[in-house]
Amino acid sequence: MHDYGVDVRVLLLGGTADGRELAAALTQAGIDVITSVAGRTSQARNQVGARVGGFGGVEGLIGYLSANEIDAVIDATHPFASRMTANAAQACAATRIRLLRFTRQSWRTHPHAADWAWVPDHAAAAALAAMAPGRVLLTVGRQPLPAYRSLNDVVARVAEWQGDEVPAGARILESRGPFDFDAELALLRDEKITMLVSKDSGGAENGAKLDAAAQLEVPVVMIARPPLPEGLPEITSIADAVSWVSTPND
Ligand code: NAP
Repeated sequence: MHDYGVDVRVLLLGGTADGRELAAALTQAGIDVITSVAGRTSQARNQVGARVGGFGGVEGLIGYLSANEIDAVIDATHPFASRMTANAAQACAATRIRLLRFTRQSWRTHPHAADWAWVPDHAAAAALAAMAPGRVLLTVGRQPLPAYRSLNDVVARVAEWQGDEVPAGARILESRGPFDFDAELALLRDEKITMLVSKDSGGAENGAKLDAAAQLEVPVVMIARPPLPEGLPEITSIADAVSWVSTPND
């Protein structure tokens, strides 16, 4: 990585491992970066140097962008953080500030993607899972769990459980990735999982469960990513994102 010496200040909307990696790469390239996290998990709240907490909707973000003389915004939030993505798109359009969506590669291109049942949302995933007997492994995060309330045999793996009420029929497995193939294989076997429900978070780091499910012929229900705001450029490589910041006329 070389020093571009670009005099721009970037607001990076983070809360993901990819966001942390990109922030480090931008800083190394001599770019002034402010990372922002919502602060939902202790890991996010403790991220060194990050500003923590919401902006107060679109209006709040517009105010923040001008008060802090932001030249460009990179939305590196999780692919399912759709409210923040929509707010960033509106605020950047209103202030004419450049905006980039940086995200990990979707699992649409995964070798087993054609074998999975793709659904548009959690309600559809829960309805499909309810039709099959057996035990479901849910890897959709903590917030959507209420959508799976109708299932009566669920193991829900979450990075951090925060004392919320556990839905009846669910058992919480608190565990933070990345997980390797052997560990995922053992989990599916030991827990006698008969269906895996995941969302298309994407990337290589969390994909071992999908290979393990294929090996054991465990069916997969995959929730598709929410659509991006129209016209928003999307990049999945760190080098390309650094280059986007460094070439303001792109
Ligand atoms: P969301 O529904 O899209 O956003 C809800 C609100 O949280 C936003 O309107 C904004 O509040 C605030 N917010 C979200 N991301 C923020 C950021 N980076 N900096 C400052 N405020 C932020 O988001 P979410 O799905 O709850 O995700 C929250 C955070 O967790 C994000 O940073 C995301 O990257 C991370 N995360 C999400 C998931 C997931 O599956 N959704 C998984 C892993 C990590 P205001 O309107 O007040 O500005």
